[in-house]
Amino acid sequence: MKSYDVLIIGGGPGGYNAAIRAGQLGLSVACIEGRSTLGGTCLNVGCMPSKALLHASELYEAASGAEFAHLGIEVKPSLNLAQMMKQKEESVTGLTKGIEFLFRKNKVDWIKGWGRLDGAGKVKVTDDQGNVSDYTAKDIVIATGSEPTPLPGVTIDNQRIIDSTGALSLPQVPKHLVVIGAGVIGLELGSVWRRLGSEVTVIEYLDRICPGIDEETAKTLQRSLAKQGMAFKLGSKVTQATPSADGVSLTLEPAAGGEAQTLQADYVLVAIGRRPYTEGLGLDSVGLNTDKRGMLENQGHRTSVPGIWVIGDVTSGPMLAHKAEDEAIACIERIHGKPHEVNYGLIPGVIYTKPELATVGKTEEQLKAEGRAYKVGKFPFMANSRAKINHETEGFAKVIADAETDQVLGVHLVGPSVSEMIGEYCVAMEFAASAEDIALICHPHPTRSEALRQAAMNVDGMAMQI
Ligand SMILES: Cc1cc2nc3c(=O)[nH]c(=O)nc-3n(C[C@H](O)[C@H](O)[C@H](O)COP(=O)(O)OP(=O)(O)OC[C@H]3O[C@@H](n4cnc5c(N)ncnc54)[C@H](O)[C@@H]3O)c2cc1C
Repeated sequence: MKSYDVLIIGGGPGGYNAAIRAGQLGLSVACIEGRSTLGGTCLNVGCMPSKALLHASELYEAASGAEFAHLGIEVKPSLNLAQMMKQKEESVTGLTKGIEFLFRKNKVDWIKGWGRLDGAGKVKVTDDQGNVSDYTAKDIVIATGSEPTPLPGVTIDNQRIIDSTGALSLPQVPKHLVVIGAGVIGLELGSVWRRLGSEVTVIEYLDRICPGIDEETAKTLQRSLAKQGMAFKLGSKVTQATPSADGVSLTLEPAAGGEAQTLQADYVLVAIGRRPYTEGLGLDSVGLNTDKRGMLENQGHRTSVPGIWVIGDVTSGPMLAHKAEDEAIACIERIHGKPHEVNYGLIPGVIYTKPELATVGKTEEQLKAEGRAYKVGKFPFMANSRAKINHETEGFAKVIADAETDQVLGVHLVGPSVSEMIGEYCVAMEFAASAEDIALICHPHPTRSEALRQAAMNVDGMAMQI
């Protein structure tokens, strides 16, 4: 029976980063992963393949339509879907192999198979041949991630009714794709297929898209996506889906109750969220329980059982790869005896549509609910010279600051390349910057980042370029 200082169950962004940091700190460490590749949901069927398709489909649409023609570039592209999927797969393979390299570099053992807790400090691993091996460790980190949440009445068959994994490798462009759920995953994958030629209808139970995101910002994104041709049916619930060989018949009703209607689609993507994954993990062998959402609770990444830790999607907080990575570092540093905290108030969120949406900190709705007085500075990309010259003028930068201290409390961006720009405010807010601090800092010209500075100036009504 092999023993380690730390055994990590799950090789996603939580697990692989925990393993790397443990290796860096000189701990003996192994990461148990049941998939045939490392990287978890993020690298295999999440962040990375979705971004590969978003990138390719964005270029395809730009080349196909008015955008290239307006720039004076006349081409007639044709879609080679098989090649688009192939380059996505090749990139994913490159990335997952990269984790194997990092494991070797940091002396992390990859134990291939599915891990199951087997009492305190013990884990059994079953490989794909059915062989079972036993391991012990001083500390065990659960990083088993999440899986798509099913929707009653709409059974995912991954033929015509698909989850996000299915939507990342459809064999053909759907004529009509219905997306159930107007969250990040639904909007990103809906965008991919719309750009490639599908009619896309997004059905959402709530009366708004992207719950939790600053409402004005979410509405602006919705307007842009609608202008591009994405149809939205908000305040609607799907109650039944009947698949056939060439499509799906959906029944939907107003969320508040009312007359049912039917809708035909050739594919339906169920994207109503994700739930923690703990199947077959042997939680009862150590007396661990999940809450009613299936989630393992933690306090400073510790479960209620000494020596068992939990990070990433399988525990509380936003289901994001960078949140899992932050928790991985903090958890291993703590196991190593050092203090370490994750600042849950400053985890950015991004939607990689066009325009992109990026957000960090508090929304206006949250501040209103807290009764905290705030000021808002906004700046439209329409008035930003770089955005204008690139014909990417949709959206705005919005900075929310405390009414008295001027400390930046929230930043909400919708516009070009904002995913790359939100990090500026993450750093600034981590150092408790005021809006004036940002307004006083020189930004390069011409860049879209100037809009961030102008929005900060506008917290006190001092933007200069509108
Ligand atoms: C389509 C899509 C797009 C996304 N885009 C983004 C994005 O742009 N940005 C972002 O931040 N997040 C994104 N996410 C979310 C992101 O993928 C997750 O938040 C992240 O992967 C969570 O990391 P994790 O390590 O907690 O879990 P996971 O990545 O889910 O990894 C868990 C791993 O554990 C393994 N495992 C489970 N049980 C066992 C067991 N018993 N034994 C051995 N192995 C086990 C699983 O096989 C899996 O590989 C996206 C998700 C999806 C589905």
